[in-house]
Amino acid sequence: MIDLLWMLLPVAAASGWLAAQHRERQRPTKSSWSPDYFKGLNYLLNEEPDKAIDVFIKLIEVDSDTVETHLALAVLFRRRGEVNRAIRIHQNLIARPSLHPQQRNLALFELGQDYRHAGLLDRAEDLFQELVASETHQVLALRQLLEIYQQEQDWVKAIHTAQQLAKASHESKQIEIAQYYCEQAEVHLRHRSDDAALQAIRHALKNDSNCVRASLLEGQLALSQRNREQAILAFQRVEQQDPDYLTEVIEPLQTCYQALGKQPEFTRYLRHVLKYHGGITPMLMLANLIEQQQGEQQAADFIVKQMHKQPSLRGLDHLLDLALSKTEIITHDHLLLLKEIMRQLLKNKPAYKCRQCGFTARRLHWQCPSCQQWNTLKPIQGIDGE
Ligand SMILES: [Zn+2]
Repeated sequence: MIDLLWMLLPVAAASGWLAAQHRERQRPTKSSWSPDYFKGLNYLLNEEPDKAIDVFIKLIEVDSDTVETHLALAVLFRRRGEVNRAIRIHQNLIARPSLHPQQRNLALFELGQDYRHAGLLDRAEDLFQELVASETHQVLALRQLLEIYQQEQDWVKAIHTAQQLAKASHESKQIEIAQYYCEQAEVHLRHRSDDAALQAIRHALKNDSNCVRASLLEGQLALSQRNREQAILAFQRVEQQDPDYLTEVIEPLQTCYQALGKQPEFTRYLRHVLKYHGGITPMLMLANLIEQQQGEQQAADFIVKQMHKQPSLRGLDHLLDLALSKTEIITHDHLLLLKEIMRQLLKNKPAYKCRQCGFTARRLHWQCPSCQQWNTLKPIQGIDGE
């Protein structure tokens, strides 16, 4: 409450001053603070901020000179989490018929934000929809609506709003729209509506031909329908779209090729990926295949050779596995210790990092949980990563 008092004092002083100025203009002979101002202060000192606010609101006659003071006061309240007070001030402003249309729009926009903070999303949505028709607040209102629809996971409305926003702001929203279609596709997949899912995936790719997520979804859908050839086409598209995500397709591709009995083709693909893009996942996968076909020694030689090119903890870990399977007792204990250290090092290592804000995660998020940007998390590269 003391906090509030400190916060309100300058505002109260300003409002008292404004009110006095105002009266001075009307009656130039009299210059004094309004008695109401002291009444308001009194309420504040007695820790009755609600009454104080009412007095101050009444004190500042709403006209073009004092609207800013009301707005500033309301924003202060909202920042402190006292949303109901902010709402009261904004509603009071909007109720004034004398308000200039531009100022009315500003107050409506702020009220919409109050409602969002209070979790009254329906009311916020109505206000922002009203503002979409305005010239002054169209883009701002569309941005707010887009956030609301994402929050509500209403992807149909999110897509429509993003399209409106792209038109109004001349910014590209293709990447985001593709992600909304992917969200839609995932909902359809959960409900086993394969056709609807495929349609959403196609829309995603039409909006963003480099949408890796859409290709992964298409591959998974085809795989679930046992259409492995189609799945391979979808997964392999990722190389052209963004090779940083190749690690995501190695395992599902292995499943496809295995089911088709085309192991040599998969080996060829892995060698191709390794040659042009590097990466620990394809290297280890290939090492496994070499071990199965040519034995442990060949696999170990292969890993050592690759690790000279690209040092990696995961590579070292795999090498230890191979070494453990065929060493004498004494060194075996040492290796076990190394192996344990390695396990600890690799445990809980984040595998993905946001390019926008640096947020790291164990699993792939298509929308960053920290900065809320879409398509910004990527597999971590380097010695302890991919
Ligand atoms: Zn981020």
